Amino acid sequence: MNIAILGPQGSGKGTQAALLSEKMGLTHIETGKLLREIACLNNSFSKKIKKTMLEGNLVSDDILKKVLISVLESANDEGIVFDGTPRNLVQYTLLKNILAARKMKFDKIIMIDISEKETIKRLTSRRTCKECGKIYNLITNPPPTNNVCECGGVLYQRDDDKPEAIIKRLENYKKETIPVLEAAQKDQILIELDGERPIEEIYKDIIAQLNLQEIHS
Ligand code: AMP
Repeated sequence: MNIAILGPQGSGKGTQAALLSEKMGLTHIETGKLLREIACLNNSFSKKIKKTMLEGNLVSDDILKKVLISVLESANDEGIVFDGTPRNLVQYTLLKNILAARKMKFDKIIMIDISEKETIKRLTSRRTCKECGKIYNLITNPPPTNNVCECGGVLYQRDDDKPEAIIKRLENYKKETIPVLEAAQKDQILIELDGERPIEEIYKDIIAQLNLQEIHS
């Protein structure tokens, strides 16, 4: 089964994708994380990506294609959960073609929706561990000790989780990603869910709507 999880920034798509990957054995492809890793390398290609990300813009479709093709080589047979991709119509077509070349298709596109107010509230209180990447929320899921992860790593605020970048990212979501959801609706593969509910409740809803059985407890 191949799924994409989309939604406004902070909707919890990463959390749900990680749960689906862990419990269903799907390969989790999180383009934001892959691009952040590339952005940390010190070369001219990575500097360009870093600048785009810091401004809250989408990286070019060409760069994304390269990243996707390299990572898809190691995808397993259970299927893939794409987290935060396709972000625009070009990427939607690209992924449909890549999947078709592997005799596969998108089974569902899941849209987890939250309000703009909730996005800003969640992202400004989001903190990430420098060591293990675990994500906390200072209000709803605070770390055990002030600014320190359970693994001992120091927590930081992503540069693109600061107000100006958040506004830009939300603008891009409306302009670029909403058309993907409309296309998925036409393709009759869209599932829309309310993201302003507990994580476990949303997860159960996804499992029920996908008609899935967990393979890992
Ligand atoms: P995310 O963690 O999904 O919010 O992504 C963080 C940033 O990575 C985005 O603001 C974009 O700059 C970049 N990014 C992630 N996924 C994509 C994508 N599919 N296409 C273009 N840029 C992306």
